[in-house]
Amino acid sequence: MRPTEPAIGFVSLGCPKAVVDAEHILTRLRAEGYRTVGGYDEADLVIINTCGFIDSAVTESLDAIDEAVQANGRVIVTGCLGSRADTIRARYPQVLAITGPHDDQAVIAAVHRHLPRPHDPFLDLVPPQGIRLTPTHYAYLKISEGCNHRCRFCIIPSLRGPLVSRPLGDIVQEAETLVRAGVREILVVSQDTSAYGADTKHRVGFVGGRAVRMSFAELVRELGRLGVWVRLHYVYPYPSVEDILPLLDIEGVLPYLDVPFQHAHPRVLQAMLRPAGRVHPLACIKAWRSIRPDLVIRSTFIVGFPGETEEEFTTLLDFVADAGIDRLGAFTYSPVEGAAANALADPVPEAVREERLERLMTHQAAVSAARLARRVGQTCDVLIDATTDQGLIGRSYAEAPDIDGVFHVQGKGRVGERVRVRVTDSDTHDLFAVVS
Ligand code: SF4
Repeated sequence: MRPTEPAIGFVSLGCPKAVVDAEHILTRLRAEGYRTVGGYDEADLVIINTCGFIDSAVTESLDAIDEAVQANGRVIVTGCLGSRADTIRARYPQVLAITGPHDDQAVIAAVHRHLPRPHDPFLDLVPPQGIRLTPTHYAYLKISEGCNHRCRFCIIPSLRGPLVSRPLGDIVQEAETLVRAGVREILVVSQDTSAYGADTKHRVGFVGGRAVRMSFAELVRELGRLGVWVRLHYVYPYPSVEDILPLLDIEGVLPYLDVPFQHAHPRVLQAMLRPAGRVHPLACIKAWRSIRPDLVIRSTFIVGFPGETEEEFTTLLDFVADAGIDRLGAFTYSPVEGAAANALADPVPEAVREERLERLMTHQAAVSAARLARRVGQTCDVLIDATTDQGLIGRSYAEAPDIDGVFHVQGKGRVGERVRVRVTDSDTHDLFAVVS
Protein backbone atom coordinates (compact mmCIF):
# COMPACT_ATOMS: atom_id res chain seq x y z
CA MET A 1 0.00 0.00 0.00
CA ARG A 2 1.23 3.49 -0.83
CA PRO A 3 0.24 6.42 1.39
CA THR A 4 -0.97 8.37 -1.67
CA GLU A 5 -3.74 5.84 -2.33
CA PRO A 6 -7.06 7.44 -1.37
CA ALA A 7 -8.75 5.57 1.49
CA ILE A 8 -12.42 4.48 1.51
CA GLY A 9 -14.36 3.33 4.55
CA PHE A 10 -17.17 0.92 3.67
CA VAL A 11 -20.15 -0.19 5.78
CA SER A 12 -22.41 -2.85 4.21
CA LEU A 13 -25.81 -3.67 5.71
CA GLY A 14 -28.64 -5.93 4.59
CA CYS A 15 -29.11 -9.17 2.70
CA PRO A 16 -26.72 -11.25 0.55
CA LYS A 17 -27.87 -9.30 -2.55
CA ALA A 18 -26.56 -6.15 -0.87
CA VAL A 19 -23.31 -7.99 -0.07
CA VAL A 20 -22.88 -8.74 -3.79
CA ASP A 21 -23.51 -5.07 -4.69
CA ALA A 22 -20.90 -4.08 -2.10
CA GLU A 23 -18.41 -6.57 -3.56
CA HIS A 24 -18.88 -5.13 -7.05
CA ILE A 25 -18.29 -1.57 -5.82
CA LEU A 26 -15.24 -2.56 -3.76
CA THR A 27 -13.80 -4.53 -6.68
CA ARG A 28 -14.13 -1.54 -9.01
CA LEU A 29 -12.61 0.83 -6.45
CA ARG A 30 -9.69 -1.49 -5.74
CA ALA A 31 -9.08 -1.90 -9.47
CA GLU A 32 -8.84 1.86 -9.74
CA GLY A 33 -6.27 2.09 -6.96
CA TYR A 34 -8.42 3.09 -3.99
CA ARG A 35 -7.76 1.22 -0.74
CA THR A 36 -10.30 0.26 1.92
CA VAL A 37 -9.70 1.00 5.60
CA GLY A 38 -11.35 -0.23 8.77
CA GLY A 39 -11.77 3.03 10.71
CA TYR A 40 -13.57 6.31 10.09
CA ASP A 41 -10.44 8.26 11.14
CA GLU A 42 -8.26 6.84 8.37
CA ALA A 43 -10.92 7.16 5.64
CA ASP A 44 -10.96 10.03 3.15
CA LEU A 45 -14.59 9.18 2.45
CA VAL A 46 -17.14 6.63 3.74
CA ILE A 47 -19.69 4.64 1.68
CA ILE A 48 -22.75 3.26 3.51
CA ASN A 49 -24.58 0.44 1.68
CA THR A 50 -28.02 0.57 3.30
CA CYS A 51 -30.97 -1.79 3.69
CA GLY A 52 -34.63 -0.75 3.66
CA PHE A 53 -36.43 -4.08 3.96
CA ILE A 54 -38.18 -3.58 7.30
CA ASP A 55 -38.35 -0.71 9.74
CA SER A 56 -35.59 -2.06 12.00
CA ALA A 57 -33.29 -2.24 8.93
CA VAL A 58 -34.16 1.37 8.05
CA THR A 59 -33.28 2.42 11.61
CA GLU A 60 -30.01 0.50 11.48
CA SER A 61 -29.15 2.16 8.14
CA LEU A 62 -29.97 5.67 9.42
CA ASP A 63 -27.89 5.00 12.55
CA ALA A 64 -24.95 3.94 10.37
CA ILE A 65 -25.26 7.11 8.27
CA ASP A 66 -25.45 9.18 11.44
CA GLU A 67 -22.34 7.55 12.89
CA ALA A 68 -20.35 8.06 9.68
CA VAL A 69 -21.47 11.69 9.34
CA GLN A 70 -20.43 12.39 12.95
CA ALA A 71 -17.13 10.50 12.81
CA ASN A 72 -15.98 11.33 9.29
CA GLY A 73 -18.32 13.83 7.62
CA ARG A 74 -17.70 12.79 3.99
CA VAL A 75 -20.38 10.19 3.30
CA ILE A 76 -21.93 8.57 0.20
CA VAL A 77 -25.13 6.56 0.70
CA THR A 78 -26.19 3.69 -1.56
CA GLY A 79 -28.39 0.56 -1.35
CA CYS A 80 -32.12 0.05 -0.87
CA LEU A 81 -32.69 2.98 1.50
CA GLY A 82 -30.92 5.19 -1.08
CA SER A 83 -34.18 5.02 -3.08
CA ARG A 84 -35.63 7.31 -0.41
CA ALA A 85 -33.17 10.10 -1.06
CA ASP A 86 -35.55 12.79 0.25
CA THR A 87 -35.78 11.14 3.68
CA ILE A 88 -32.01 10.86 3.94
CA ARG A 89 -31.37 14.34 2.55
CA ALA A 90 -33.86 15.86 5.05
CA ARG A 91 -31.95 14.36 7.98
CA TYR A 92 -28.41 14.59 6.61
CA PRO A 93 -28.17 17.45 4.08
CA GLN A 94 -24.37 17.22 4.25
CA VAL A 95 -24.27 13.74 2.65
CA LEU A 96 -22.14 13.94 -0.53
CA ALA A 97 -24.27 11.71 -2.76
CA ILE A 98 -27.17 9.26 -2.58
CA THR A 99 -27.80 6.43 -5.05
CA GLY A 100 -30.31 3.58 -5.17
CA PRO A 101 -29.51 -0.15 -5.00
CA HIS A 102 -27.58 -2.01 -7.69
CA ASP A 103 -26.16 1.21 -9.13
CA ASP A 104 -22.40 0.70 -9.01
CA GLN A 105 -21.85 3.24 -11.79
CA ALA A 106 -23.47 6.07 -9.83
CA VAL A 107 -21.51 5.19 -6.68
CA ILE A 108 -18.22 5.09 -8.56
CA ALA A 109 -19.04 8.39 -10.31
CA ALA A 110 -19.77 9.97 -6.92
CA VAL A 111 -16.47 8.68 -5.52
CA HIS A 112 -14.61 10.10 -8.54
CA ARG A 113 -16.35 13.44 -8.02
CA HIS A 114 -15.51 13.77 -4.34
CA LEU A 115 -12.25 11.80 -4.15
CA PRO A 116 -10.50 11.86 -7.53
CA ARG A 117 -9.10 8.53 -8.65
CA PRO A 118 -5.35 7.96 -8.33
CA HIS A 119 -3.18 8.22 -11.45
CA ASP A 120 -1.40 4.88 -10.98
CA PRO A 121 -4.08 2.29 -10.47
CA PHE A 122 -2.13 -0.93 -9.66
CA LEU A 123 -4.60 -2.98 -11.71
CA ASP A 124 -2.63 -6.17 -11.17
CA LEU A 125 -3.26 -6.08 -7.39
CA VAL A 126 -6.91 -6.98 -7.86
CA PRO A 127 -7.60 -10.72 -7.82
CA PRO A 128 -9.62 -11.93 -10.83
CA GLN A 129 -12.57 -12.96 -8.62
CA GLY A 130 -12.80 -9.38 -7.31
CA ILE A 131 -12.97 -8.28 -3.69
CA ARG A 132 -15.17 -10.61 -1.64
CA LEU A 133 -16.62 -9.99 1.80
CA THR A 134 -17.18 -13.73 2.43
CA PRO A 135 -14.46 -16.23 3.48
CA THR A 136 -12.38 -17.51 0.56
CA HIS A 137 -14.10 -20.93 0.42
CA TYR A 138 -17.68 -19.76 -0.22
CA ALA A 139 -19.23 -16.93 -2.21
CA TYR A 140 -22.63 -15.50 -3.14
CA LEU A 141 -23.50 -15.47 -6.83
CA LYS A 142 -26.28 -13.11 -7.92
CA ILE A 143 -28.17 -14.44 -10.96
CA SER A 144 -30.74 -11.68 -11.43
CA GLU A 145 -31.83 -8.34 -10.08
CA GLY A 146 -35.32 -7.09 -9.24
CA CYS A 147 -38.68 -8.81 -8.96
CA ASN A 148 -41.93 -8.98 -10.96
CA HIS A 149 -44.15 -9.69 -7.92
CA ARG A 150 -46.00 -7.26 -5.72
CA CYS A 151 -46.12 -8.91 -2.30
CA ARG A 152 -48.13 -6.53 -0.18
CA PHE A 153 -45.59 -6.35 2.68
CA CYS A 154 -42.58 -5.64 0.45
CA ILE A 155 -41.27 -2.54 -1.31
CA ILE A 156 -38.29 -4.21 -3.00
CA PRO A 157 -39.83 -4.11 -6.53
CA SER A 158 -40.22 -0.33 -6.21
CA LEU A 159 -36.62 -0.07 -5.00
CA ARG A 160 -34.92 -2.54 -7.33
CA GLY A 161 -37.24 -2.62 -10.34
CA PRO A 162 -38.56 -5.58 -12.36
CA LEU A 163 -36.78 -8.92 -12.82
CA VAL A 164 -33.68 -8.69 -15.01
CA SER A 165 -31.81 -12.00 -15.41
CA ARG A 166 -28.08 -11.93 -16.05
CA PRO A 167 -26.93 -13.73 -19.21
CA LEU A 168 -26.23 -17.38 -18.36
CA GLY A 169 -22.77 -17.20 -19.93
CA ASP A 170 -21.80 -14.33 -17.61
CA ILE A 171 -23.07 -16.20 -14.55
CA VAL A 172 -21.15 -19.37 -15.44
CA GLN A 173 -18.02 -17.37 -16.21
CA GLU A 174 -18.17 -15.64 -12.82
CA ALA A 175 -18.77 -18.99 -11.11
CA GLU A 176 -15.77 -20.55 -12.88
CA THR A 177 -13.57 -17.64 -11.80
CA LEU A 178 -14.71 -18.15 -8.21
CA VAL A 179 -13.91 -21.86 -8.34
CA ARG A 180 -10.45 -21.15 -9.76
CA ALA A 181 -9.90 -18.75 -6.83
CA GLY A 182 -10.62 -21.52 -4.29
CA VAL A 183 -14.37 -21.17 -3.69
CA ARG A 184 -15.85 -24.55 -2.68
CA GLU A 185 -19.47 -23.52 -2.20
CA ILE A 186 -21.52 -21.15 -4.34
CA LEU A 187 -24.65 -19.63 -2.83
CA VAL A 188 -27.08 -18.62 -5.56
CA VAL A 189 -29.04 -15.49 -4.63
CA SER A 190 -31.62 -13.21 -6.27
CA GLN A 191 -35.11 -11.97 -5.38
CA ASP A 192 -36.75 -14.87 -7.23
CA THR A 193 -34.35 -17.65 -8.23
CA SER A 194 -36.84 -20.09 -9.79
CA ALA A 195 -38.06 -17.34 -12.14
CA TYR A 196 -34.59 -17.15 -13.70
CA GLY A 197 -34.83 -16.27 -17.40
CA ALA A 198 -38.61 -15.57 -17.37
CA ASP A 199 -37.99 -11.91 -18.25
CA THR A 200 -36.10 -13.01 -21.38
CA LYS A 201 -38.88 -15.49 -22.31
CA HIS A 202 -36.20 -18.12 -21.70
CA ARG A 203 -34.25 -17.07 -24.75
CA VAL A 204 -31.23 -19.06 -25.87
CA GLY A 205 -27.87 -17.72 -24.74
CA PHE A 206 -24.32 -19.02 -25.02
CA VAL A 207 -22.15 -20.73 -22.42
CA GLY A 208 -18.61 -21.33 -23.65
CA GLY A 209 -19.85 -21.35 -27.27
CA ARG A 210 -22.76 -23.76 -26.53
CA ALA A 211 -26.35 -22.62 -27.07
CA VAL A 212 -28.21 -22.96 -23.76
CA ARG A 213 -31.71 -21.78 -22.82
CA MET A 214 -31.94 -19.25 -19.96
CA SER A 215 -34.09 -21.29 -17.59
CA PHE A 216 -33.89 -22.35 -13.96
CA ALA A 217 -33.19 -25.98 -14.89
CA GLU A 218 -30.37 -25.06 -17.30
CA LEU A 219 -28.88 -22.67 -14.75
CA VAL A 220 -28.81 -25.47 -12.19
CA ARG A 221 -27.37 -27.93 -14.72
CA GLU A 222 -24.59 -25.53 -15.75
CA LEU A 223 -23.61 -24.62 -12.17
CA GLY A 224 -23.77 -28.29 -11.20
CA ARG A 225 -20.94 -29.03 -13.61
CA LEU A 226 -18.45 -26.95 -11.65
CA GLY A 227 -17.57 -29.69 -9.14
CA VAL A 228 -18.31 -27.55 -6.06
CA TRP A 229 -21.34 -27.31 -3.82
CA VAL A 230 -24.10 -25.09 -5.19
CA ARG A 231 -26.83 -23.99 -2.78
CA LEU A 232 -30.08 -22.45 -4.02
CA HIS A 233 -31.65 -19.58 -2.10
CA TYR A 234 -34.92 -17.67 -2.68
CA VAL A 235 -36.63 -20.47 -4.60
CA TYR A 236 -40.41 -20.07 -5.06
CA PRO A 237 -42.70 -23.08 -5.50
CA TYR A 238 -43.22 -22.81 -9.25
CA PRO A 239 -43.57 -25.93 -11.44
CA SER A 240 -39.96 -25.27 -12.59
CA VAL A 241 -38.72 -26.58 -9.22
CA GLU A 242 -39.78 -30.13 -10.11
CA ASP A 243 -37.48 -29.95 -13.16
CA ILE A 244 -34.42 -29.43 -10.99
CA LEU A 245 -35.10 -32.05 -8.30
CA PRO A 246 -33.64 -34.95 -10.30
CA LEU A 247 -30.47 -32.87 -10.79
CA LEU A 248 -29.80 -32.28 -7.10
CA ASP A 249 -26.72 -33.96 -5.68
CA ILE A 250 -25.98 -35.85 -8.92
CA GLU A 251 -24.86 -32.53 -10.40
CA GLY A 252 -23.25 -31.16 -7.23
CA VAL A 253 -26.24 -28.93 -6.50
CA LEU A 254 -27.22 -29.60 -2.89
CA PRO A 255 -30.57 -31.15 -1.95
CA TYR A 256 -31.35 -28.03 0.07
CA LEU A 257 -33.88 -25.42 -0.94
CA ASP A 258 -34.38 -22.06 0.73
CA VAL A 259 -38.07 -21.40 0.01
CA PRO A 260 -39.43 -18.24 1.67
CA PHE A 261 -43.05 -19.40 2.04
CA GLN A 262 -43.85 -16.57 4.54
CA HIS A 263 -47.09 -18.33 5.57
CA ALA A 264 -49.01 -21.57 5.11
CA HIS A 265 -52.65 -20.53 5.29
CA PRO A 266 -54.19 -20.04 1.81
CA ARG A 267 -56.14 -16.91 2.76
CA VAL A 268 -53.09 -15.21 4.28
CA LEU A 269 -50.88 -16.19 1.33
CA GLN A 270 -53.41 -14.69 -1.07
CA ALA A 271 -53.77 -11.56 1.08
CA MET A 272 -49.99 -11.22 0.99
CA LEU A 273 -50.10 -11.62 -2.85
CA ARG A 274 -47.30 -14.17 -2.61
CA PRO A 275 -45.75 -15.69 -5.75
CA ALA A 276 -47.48 -19.02 -6.42
CA GLY A 277 -49.89 -17.97 -3.64
CA ARG A 278 -52.46 -20.54 -4.81
CA VAL A 279 -50.00 -23.43 -4.44
CA HIS A 280 -50.61 -25.39 -1.24
CA PRO A 281 -47.23 -25.39 0.56
CA LEU A 282 -47.73 -28.76 2.27
CA ALA A 283 -48.78 -30.53 -0.94
CA CYS A 284 -45.85 -28.92 -2.66
CA ILE A 285 -43.27 -30.15 -0.14
CA LYS A 286 -44.80 -33.63 -0.14
CA ALA A 287 -44.51 -33.76 -3.93
CA TRP A 288 -40.89 -32.62 -3.83
CA ARG A 289 -39.96 -35.10 -1.12
CA SER A 290 -41.62 -37.93 -3.04
CA ILE A 291 -38.88 -37.28 -5.62
CA ARG A 292 -36.11 -36.38 -3.15
CA PRO A 293 -36.86 -37.82 0.31
CA ASP A 294 -33.67 -36.27 1.74
CA LEU A 295 -34.59 -32.73 0.61
CA VAL A 296 -33.82 -30.16 3.31
CA ILE A 297 -36.19 -27.18 3.39
CA ARG A 298 -35.31 -23.85 4.89
CA SER A 299 -38.05 -21.24 5.00
CA THR A 300 -38.92 -17.84 6.42
CA PHE A 301 -42.29 -16.80 7.82
CA ILE A 302 -44.06 -13.61 8.81
CA VAL A 303 -46.41 -13.79 11.79
CA GLY A 304 -49.09 -11.21 12.58
CA PHE A 305 -49.80 -10.13 8.98
CA PRO A 306 -52.89 -7.84 9.05
CA GLY A 307 -56.00 -9.94 9.52
CA GLU A 308 -54.14 -13.11 10.59
CA THR A 309 -56.48 -14.96 12.95
CA GLU A 310 -55.47 -17.34 15.72
CA GLU A 311 -56.79 -20.21 13.62
CA GLU A 312 -54.70 -19.14 10.60
CA PHE A 313 -51.64 -18.86 12.81
CA THR A 314 -52.32 -22.37 14.14
CA THR A 315 -52.38 -23.61 10.52
CA LEU A 316 -48.86 -22.21 10.18
CA LEU A 317 -47.70 -24.02 13.35
CA ASP A 318 -49.19 -27.30 12.10
CA PHE A 319 -47.58 -26.82 8.71
CA VAL A 320 -44.09 -26.38 10.17
CA ALA A 321 -44.40 -29.78 11.90
CA ASP A 322 -46.33 -31.61 9.16
CA ALA A 323 -44.00 -30.40 6.40
CA GLY A 324 -40.88 -31.03 8.48
CA ILE A 325 -39.39 -27.57 7.94
CA ASP A 326 -35.74 -28.22 8.76
CA ARG A 327 -34.51 -24.67 9.19
CA LEU A 328 -36.63 -21.62 9.85
CA GLY A 329 -36.33 -17.87 10.19
CA ALA A 330 -39.30 -15.75 11.30
CA PHE A 331 -40.26 -12.11 11.72
CA THR A 332 -43.22 -10.29 13.14
CA TYR A 333 -45.08 -8.30 10.49
CA SER A 334 -43.66 -4.79 10.33
CA PRO A 335 -45.44 -2.01 8.40
CA VAL A 336 -42.81 -0.70 5.98
CA GLU A 337 -43.38 2.80 4.64
CA GLY A 338 -44.80 2.53 1.13
CA ALA A 339 -45.99 -1.11 1.47
CA ALA A 340 -49.55 -1.88 0.28
CA ALA A 341 -50.22 -4.03 3.37
CA ASN A 342 -50.31 -0.91 5.55
CA ALA A 343 -53.78 -0.14 4.18
CA LEU A 344 -55.20 -3.56 5.12
CA ALA A 345 -57.82 -3.83 7.83
CA ASP A 346 -57.46 -5.64 11.17
CA PRO A 347 -53.84 -5.00 12.13
CA VAL A 348 -52.64 -7.56 14.66
CA PRO A 349 -51.61 -5.87 17.96
CA GLU A 350 -47.87 -5.82 18.55
CA ALA A 351 -48.12 -7.90 21.73
CA VAL A 352 -49.98 -10.64 19.82
CA ARG A 353 -47.40 -10.54 17.00
CA GLU A 354 -44.57 -10.96 19.51
CA GLU A 355 -46.36 -13.76 21.32
CA ARG A 356 -46.97 -15.62 18.04
CA LEU A 357 -43.32 -15.24 17.06
CA GLU A 358 -42.24 -16.77 20.34
CA ARG A 359 -44.70 -19.66 19.95
CA LEU A 360 -43.51 -20.30 16.40
CA MET A 361 -39.84 -20.36 17.40
CA THR A 362 -40.49 -22.64 20.38
CA HIS A 363 -42.49 -24.96 18.14
CA GLN A 364 -39.76 -24.95 15.48
CA ALA A 365 -37.08 -25.71 18.07
CA ALA A 366 -38.82 -29.02 18.81
CA VAL A 367 -39.27 -29.79 15.09
CA SER A 368 -35.63 -28.96 14.41
CA ALA A 369 -34.36 -31.09 17.31
CA ALA A 370 -36.41 -34.09 16.14
CA ARG A 371 -35.26 -33.76 12.52
CA LEU A 372 -31.59 -33.40 13.50
CA ALA A 373 -31.81 -36.42 15.85
CA ARG A 374 -32.69 -38.55 12.81
CA ARG A 375 -29.23 -37.84 11.40
CA VAL A 376 -27.31 -39.31 14.35
CA GLY A 377 -25.36 -42.35 13.13
CA GLN A 378 -25.33 -41.17 9.49
CA THR A 379 -22.21 -40.17 7.56
CA CYS A 380 -21.94 -37.09 5.38
CA ASP A 381 -19.47 -34.54 4.01
CA VAL A 382 -18.79 -31.38 5.99
CA LEU A 383 -17.14 -28.24 4.65
CA ILE A 384 -14.89 -26.78 7.34
CA ASP A 385 -15.57 -23.09 8.08
CA ALA A 386 -13.29 -22.60 11.11
CA THR A 387 -10.86 -24.32 13.44
CA THR A 388 -11.02 -23.66 17.19
CA ASP A 389 -9.35 -24.98 20.34
CA GLN A 390 -12.40 -27.21 20.81
CA GLY A 391 -12.30 -28.68 17.29
CA LEU A 392 -13.64 -27.92 13.82
CA ILE A 393 -16.76 -25.96 12.87
CA GLY A 394 -18.37 -26.81 9.57
CA ARG A 395 -21.55 -27.40 7.61
CA SER A 396 -23.02 -30.23 5.56
CA TYR A 397 -25.41 -30.03 2.59
CA ALA A 398 -28.18 -29.21 5.07
CA GLU A 399 -26.76 -26.00 6.58
CA ALA A 400 -26.22 -22.66 4.83
CA PRO A 401 -23.64 -20.27 6.29
CA ASP A 402 -24.75 -17.64 8.83
CA ILE A 403 -28.46 -18.56 8.84
CA ASP A 404 -28.56 -22.26 9.88
CA GLY A 405 -26.96 -24.37 12.61
CA VAL A 406 -23.45 -25.88 12.35
CA PHE A 407 -21.47 -29.09 12.80
CA HIS A 408 -19.01 -29.38 15.72
CA VAL A 409 -16.43 -31.87 14.49
CA GLN A 410 -13.61 -33.71 16.29
CA GLY A 411 -10.69 -34.68 14.07
CA LYS A 412 -8.31 -33.19 11.55
CA GLY A 413 -9.27 -30.74 8.82
CA ARG A 414 -8.45 -27.34 7.35
CA VAL A 415 -10.69 -24.36 6.61
CA GLY A 416 -12.18 -24.83 3.13
CA GLU A 417 -11.59 -28.60 3.16
CA ARG A 418 -14.44 -31.10 2.80
CA VAL A 419 -14.16 -33.99 5.28
CA ARG A 420 -16.26 -37.11 5.69
CA VAL A 421 -17.80 -37.35 9.17
CA ARG A 422 -20.01 -39.63 11.25
CA VAL A 423 -22.75 -37.84 13.21
CA THR A 424 -22.52 -38.73 16.92
CA ASP A 425 -25.05 -36.39 18.55
CA SER A 426 -27.41 -33.48 17.97
CA ASP A 427 -29.15 -30.70 19.89
CA THR A 428 -31.77 -28.13 18.92
CA HIS A 429 -29.94 -26.58 15.98
CA ASP A 430 -26.43 -28.12 15.80
CA LEU A 431 -24.86 -31.50 15.12
CA PHE A 432 -21.80 -33.18 16.62
CA ALA A 433 -19.55 -35.51 14.62
CA VAL A 434 -16.15 -37.17 14.28
CA VAL A 435 -14.02 -37.35 11.17
CA SER A 436 -14.49 -40.89 9.87
S1 SF4 B 1 -41.15 -11.98 -4.24
FE1 SF4 B 1 -42.36 -10.63 -2.94
S2 SF4 B 1 -41.11 -10.45 -1.05
FE2 SF4 B 1 -39.74 -11.21 -2.64
S3 SF4 B 1 -38.82 -9.34 -3.53
FE3 SF4 B 1 -40.60 -9.87 -4.81
S4 SF4 B 1 -42.25 -8.61 -3.96
FE4 SF4 B 1 -40.64 -8.68 -2.39
